[in-house]
Amino acid sequence: MKILVINAGSSSLKYQLIDMENESVLAKGLCDRIGLDGKFVHNANGEKLELDHPMPNHAEAIKVVLSHLTDAKWGVIKDVSEIAAVGHRTVHGAETFVEATVMDDEKVNVLDGLAEFAPLHNPPAVTGIRACMEVMGKDVPQVTVYDTAFHYGMPKTAAIYPIPYEYYEKYGIRRYGFHGTSHGFVSEECAKLLGKDIKDLKIITCHLGNGSSITAVDGGKCVDTSMGFTPLAGFMMGTRCGDIDPAVAMFIMNKEGLTPDEMNNIMNKKSGALGVSGVSSDFRDLDAGAEEGNERCRLALDMFTYQVTKFIGSYAAAMGGVDAIVFTAGIGENNAAMREDIIKNFAFLGAAIDPEKNKKRGEACIVSTEDSKVKVCVIPTNEELAIARQTLAVISK
Ligand code: AMP
Repeated sequence: MKILVINAGSSSLKYQLIDMENESVLAKGLCDRIGLDGKFVHNANGEKLELDHPMPNHAEAIKVVLSHLTDAKWGVIKDVSEIAAVGHRTVHGAETFVEATVMDDEKVNVLDGLAEFAPLHNPPAVTGIRACMEVMGKDVPQVTVYDTAFHYGMPKTAAIYPIPYEYYEKYGIRRYGFHGTSHGFVSEECAKLLGKDIKDLKIITCHLGNGSSITAVDGGKCVDTSMGFTPLAGFMMGTRCGDIDPAVAMFIMNKEGLTPDEMNNIMNKKSGALGVSGVSSDFRDLDAGAEEGNERCRLALDMFTYQVTKFIGSYAAAMGGVDAIVFTAGIGENNAAMREDIIKNFAFLGAAIDPEKNKKRGEACIVSTEDSKVKVCVIPTNEELAIARQTLAVISK
């Protein structure tokens, strides 16, 4: 059975066709500059095709994808009917879509109505779903898979903000959490790697990339997560501030005469590692800067390590223990020194990194010592595969 996974942005559309028999990627690519001049990249059969191809809208982009998936030279299937379903990466389901869902016209309209929860991400997903419905017809299930879904069941004690309760009731303001597809995927892979039933494990998953979040997973379920009502919350990221005293925002707005949008932009785009270092949001640049003696690069790296440590520590307390800590995403998978610095802080829990194992890259592995009381794992995330798995599960119900 073959599942097409789509990740639609406002002017782009990434896709992967996955054969669920062996979970292999048959083809993948990108439609970029949709609505502009149109660039198309398609990888299949061990080769890469790059084309300038005008795509005035997402429906035309889907047509280009399908025609290449079935092309005599570049194709990997004979007919579009071989695609059993399409899984759409969708950021925010709010309290309406709390699990992966087969869409119909009415549900797409409801999802459209949730745009204000994720104004940059939800509208392009809706556009992608409508485009697929238009081009592929009603018989192919279009499944939405939500970044928020994995976190939805967290206890109210973790989800509700201590502000007047009416704002939760009126506007749905609560902690939702993000990167859920990734946290769910790596926690399942962690249980497999350890040869244990996930129901018996307390896992802390650290998705450390340009956007970062940490989740406490007890028995396979999210019990708390660092991101909140929006992906701005938690600890510092590449350009996002994470949790700060909320009064700081009002103070700066008053002093500098800023509008809410301008302040939002500063906290999302100009803060975090970039704001502290004044150099870059990319941790490789911070490493290089620190190496050359730039103190603010060093400070940004040390703050990140410290803040990640605090979240891991608080989640270990929240779960009454931790069996495994998982690192994933750009920094989590690649920055061995950062992992070592973080785990050193958990010697008091009996956690220890094996420096040799910690050098491995690109595969799921345990990087803690044999006798480490807490297992430390590096697990490459694979959100497309996770979306395909959830899509398959929904259509198999
Ligand atoms: P992501 O958002 O998951 O793509 O992660 C982006 C972050 O991962 C950036 O801060 C990069 O500096 C970091 N990163 C990606 N590749 C590497 C690498 N090979 N070594 C160290 N950091 C990396």
